[in-house]
Amino acid sequence: MTQGRFDRLFIGGEWVTPLDGGVRGSIDPSTGQPWTDVAYGGVADIDRAVAAAGAAFEGPWRRMPGWERAALLRRFADLYAAHVEELAQVESRDNGRAIRESRLDVGMHAQYYHWFASLADKLDGRTIPMDASVHAFTSRVPAGVVGTITPWNVPLMAAAWKLGPALAAGCTVVLKPAEQTPASSLALARLFEEAGFPPGVVNVVPGDGPTAGAHLVAHPDVDKIAFTGEGATAKTILKTGADTLKRFSFELGGKAPHIIFADADVDQALNAATGSAWTLCGQSCALGSRVLVERPVYDRVVEEFRRRAARVRVGMPLDPATHMGPQAHAEQLAKTLRYIDIGRDEGAELVTGGGRVDNDGLRDGYFVQPTAFAGVRADMRIAQEEIFGPVAALIPFDGEEEAIAIANGTPYGLTAGLWTGDVGRAHRVAARIEAGMVWVNTYRYIRWSTPYGGMKASGWGRENGIEALDSYLETKTTVISTTGTFPDPYLQ
Ligand code: ADP
Repeated sequence: MTQGRFDRLFIGGEWVTPLDGGVRGSIDPSTGQPWTDVAYGGVADIDRAVAAAGAAFEGPWRRMPGWERAALLRRFADLYAAHVEELAQVESRDNGRAIRESRLDVGMHAQYYHWFASLADKLDGRTIPMDASVHAFTSRVPAGVVGTITPWNVPLMAAAWKLGPALAAGCTVVLKPAEQTPASSLALARLFEEAGFPPGVVNVVPGDGPTAGAHLVAHPDVDKIAFTGEGATAKTILKTGADTLKRFSFELGGKAPHIIFADADVDQALNAATGSAWTLCGQSCALGSRVLVERPVYDRVVEEFRRRAARVRVGMPLDPATHMGPQAHAEQLAKTLRYIDIGRDEGAELVTGGGRVDNDGLRDGYFVQPTAFAGVRADMRIAQEEIFGPVAALIPFDGEEEAIAIANGTPYGLTAGLWTGDVGRAHRVAARIEAGMVWVNTYRYIRWSTPYGGMKASGWGRENGIEALDSYLETKTTVISTTGTFPDPYLQ
């Protein structure tokens, strides 16, 4: 495939035209216009991708020693590192993320693949002491063919978090990126091809969720689905996959509490809290969309949100000066604006922002102002429901108990942050927060080695860290008799 073109699917090591999908324009959210043609697969394309992944699993891949898989992954990771700029540009064109953010994000991904490569030849088991008549041991075997379904906010990061452990574990993959942002995953496929992965180990088929995605989930030859997206989609996926009893891992939404105690270094807390409210135009489940502020410093924090919002440069994604690009697609723009209206109707006080950006040059794109509401009560919809736009809810509280109650008072449990100068309080509060990841005096510190995932409605399983391998491996126990004898049960 020619560099920079995305009008073919990557199946079985070949670039093929869709059988029953088609080629459509992918929309640039900063203009509302298509920027490139992309191949979308249909049901027949998913069938052949799954067949290719199945053949690769039964063929070279599951028999390849871990150190050889590791060497391939490392070669791929080096290629990835050499293509950061190109990948970041494609991602920003497709999802509108400010290029300065995409460069930082994509710049870290190679290390995810390197780190999982380093585990590929260390998947050892245990010996289990029984008695002298048997030798019992476990081994860890790959789950099989994995369907990875990724979202539109961070397509390359979601792919790294899934393909790194899946390939290290010895699984083969069909990657279906979100229909809104398919291009970067096809760019990724070119690097897998160049790295020399055996045909069919990685297949990339963009497609629509309810057709291609649902078919991947229902497919009897897919052993596991690794999904990142909305909770409502996860429930549909569970039902679709129920008949085949496949394995699932889910990374779902969040409504993270970002708690600022009065004894904190409030300036530092504000750097993190404003950044994590508006990064990625608010489109990440890890962001601190609920800012819980202890009452003595509440007015100061509200005022700083107002002041700092004025410094945010909303602009074209590929402009290096831009802090915040547009929402990634038109439906998300509509959703964010709807929630801003809901916030006003609920009686929250609009501190800053609150609408589309209407400047020349940005008018046709899906741009929203960085927004914050003050006077938010914990039971308001803007404090309970995931908006996925640049809308911070600033909630006042009095004391630790109330902070913890508010923090835990949503269905979600993905991430949380807290700022305090009291080390005892840091431990007390962190221990009681219901979230898969808690940051103290920092925020969004996420790396390859730190397990990430949700409690409650925020997901099943963990990505990153050694734990990520668990969901791509089965534990097999083997018991071998040392005597070779077995008593006849019917002798007497
Ligand atoms: P959002 O609602 O924020 O757009 P989704 O959870 O719908 O996010 O999308 C995440 C991923 O799930 C995308 O790749 C999308 O194509 C896919 N998807 C959506 N609906 C289904 C479905 N019914 N079955 C399988 N995948 C789906």
